[in-house]
Amino acid sequence: MNDVASQARQWAAQSLASTGTVVRPDEIRTIEVTDFGLGRLHEVGLQVLVYVNTERVCSKEMVFSPWQICPEHRHPPQPNNPGKEETFRCRAGEAYLYVPGDPAESPLHRLPMNSEGGFSVWHEVVLRPGDQHTLPPNTLHWIQGGPEGAIVTEMSTHSADDLDIFTDERISAGARHE
Ligand code: ZN
Repeated sequence: MNDVASQARQWAAQSLASTGTVVRPDEIRTIEVTDFGLGRLHEVGLQVLVYVNTERVCSKEMVFSPWQICPEHRHPPQPNNPGKEETFRCRAGEAYLYVPGDPAESPLHRLPMNSEGGFSVWHEVVLRPGDQHTLPPNTLHWIQGGPEGAIVTEMSTHSADDLDIFTDERISAGARHE
């Protein structure tokens, strides 16, 4: 999906620039575009700019196109740590975060066709610019961008994507990136 990926990368860079976020040209080239191996980037996928990911801390921008979904997953405990802890802060647009708890009565999400079995938590946290939410390690979660997409800053402990466990069995850690 090279053309698709480079278009998505450019679109993400423009979205970040439109919010006043300065992104260097050499950073634009590093924006990760992932379709989680499903081949439906605009439904299930994400554009990510990683600012820093050391052994202890990580910070990244997640850029969602309209209705794009980061599919349900958790960050399991590891031998020497309890798993990744994440804080999401919305910078622009609107994002819907789903976590364990009471299901929303009138949820704002729009699930794509053919997504049965991929989602199991339905408590809705609406993130608008300035809103943020912190997840304990090993908590199931998924996020969908709203009608205009969203820019969500993630601040977390060390990120190791290949250790993530996805609810949708079609998504394997190895297939996550383009
Ligand atoms: Zn996560």
